[in-house]
Amino acid sequence: MKEKGGATLEQAYVSSITDEIFARIDGLSYKADCPLPLEDLRYLRFLHRDIHGSVLVGEMICHVCIVHDLIDIFKRLYQAGYPVEKIRLIDEYGADDEISMRDNNSSCFNFRFISHTRRISKHGLGLAVDVNPLYNPYVKTVAGRQVSEPATAAAYCERQRDFPYKLQKGDLCYRLFTEHGFLWGGDWTDRKDYQHFEVSDEMAAILGRRT
Ligand SMILES: [Zn+2]
Repeated sequence: MKEKGGATLEQAYVSSITDEIFARIDGLSYKADCPLPLEDLRYLRFLHRDIHGSVLVGEMICHVCIVHDLIDIFKRLYQAGYPVEKIRLIDEYGADDEISMRDNNSSCFNFRFISHTRRISKHGLGLAVDVNPLYNPYVKTVAGRQVSEPATAAAYCERQRDFPYKLQKGDLCYRLFTEHGFLWGGDWTDRKDYQHFEVSDEMAAILGRRT
């Protein structure tokens, strides 16, 4: 997995955002009003397996501060055969989170402000990762009605059931992310985001000041 402009680290290829990579994200996940410097982002490529055990190549863009965490986490998931169906740049879905989630695509960086604020979301900083999102939706109750994101994930909001790619507290994916200091959206009480791991607000604030 070696090529010009990057380095191979523990079975993963890592590089800065080269012109070639920037051309793939410009105006998509890296929008015109993105204040995050490109120097703070890294491109990763690594192996993962789907539920049939097929070996696939994943691509992800994240904040430079969590590169080594993600390399270690995905290396260990791969070695253990923990299934992650698709890991493609969200730009392949027009940087549309809903479309990417419906395709069960795992991803990290996608620049956006939190609705109605000028605060950048953790995904917008490359500090949050969604894993197998179709089967591990974001679930909240609005006016007494349960809604899910993606909207096609209603069948997977019932967490007592067993189904493929289900992420749950105590499983390998949960353990690896939390051992690396990430918080899990499945632990939130006002809503649930079963696909979502993010660095703490304290860490994000430190990184935000730095950038
Ligand atoms: Zn997320």
